[in-house]
Amino acid sequence: MELEFLGTGSGQPSKFRNVASLALKLLDERNAVWLFDVGEATQHQILKTTIRPRKIEKIFISHLHGDHIFGLPGLLSSRSFQGADKTEPLTIYGPKGIRSFVNTALRVSDTHLSYPLSFVEIEAGTIFEDQAFRVIALPLRHRMEAWGFRIEEKPHPGELLVERLQADQVPAGPVYGQLKAGQTVTLADGRVLDGKDYLGPDQPGRTIAIVYDTMPTEAAAQLADHADLLVHEATYGTSKEEQKMARAHGHSTVRDATKLAYQAQVGALVLTHVSARYLGPLLTDFISSAKKAFPGTYVARDFDVVDLPMKKAHHDEA
Ligand SMILES: [Zn+2]
Repeated sequence: MELEFLGTGSGQPSKFRNVASLALKLLDERNAVWLFDVGEATQHQILKTTIRPRKIEKIFISHLHGDHIFGLPGLLSSRSFQGADKTEPLTIYGPKGIRSFVNTALRVSDTHLSYPLSFVEIEAGTIFEDQAFRVIALPLRHRMEAWGFRIEEKPHPGELLVERLQADQVPAGPVYGQLKAGQTVTLADGRVLDGKDYLGPDQPGRTIAIVYDTMPTEAAAQLADHADLLVHEATYGTSKEEQKMARAHGHSTVRDATKLAYQAQVGALVLTHVSARYLGPLLTDFISSAKKAFPGTYVARDFDVVDLPMKKAHHDEA
């Protein structure tokens, strides 16, 4: 599980930061990539990475401001040119209006996609769930409808304790697979075994919160609660004047983001959606004020990759 920052700027592209986009690479977990926001030229950024558009399975859109969505029609269209077919559907989750934005752009440009495209217009709560993942969306506080996301990986079942099976003289065979799946099985000699007795502890899943454009709000704290990683916008630095600007534009400062990280007790904080004004010494100040407020803070640059390794099982944590 890796996060790759495709665009870390705010408002408009600058020399060093493209507009918002973030890839959650779930290649080991589901051979897929999920995108969070698709600012203009996201597909150009993707060309400089190992991400293949055909692998993009889901796109989550925080809100409909242009710096978060103008890259969508081009990316969707290129995914078609690259041969995505009926077996490679794509789902876009976003605020009301996302369907009409995309469909209008495709219709007017006479673009016909080779793969099924579907939309989920977000309502608060769980917006996606399967056996491995759950995604929760809650409304943030911005100048228009905006959503934050919490991605929860479900626990991985513990490993099969082969030594214990051997000690109990359970002959190897398909029965091992059934026990690993947690089933109860009856052996040829009549013994009944419960798979749970032969599995190590569950490995806890990982949790990521992604909070783009917002002023401080309780919902962001709920999304971030004890997350392993919080990705948060920090459009502005910490001075009084910057704070005023942040509020006027419905945004957060470095201080807002670090305060939230601290309160929610997240494992690490990555700041993104940084204004282009922060360059050179101003960027150095920006980074040091963030690290001072919350030591586990990192200010993302375009193409940074953050790895989230599996956590150890619960019994190892003490
Ligand atoms: Zn915005």
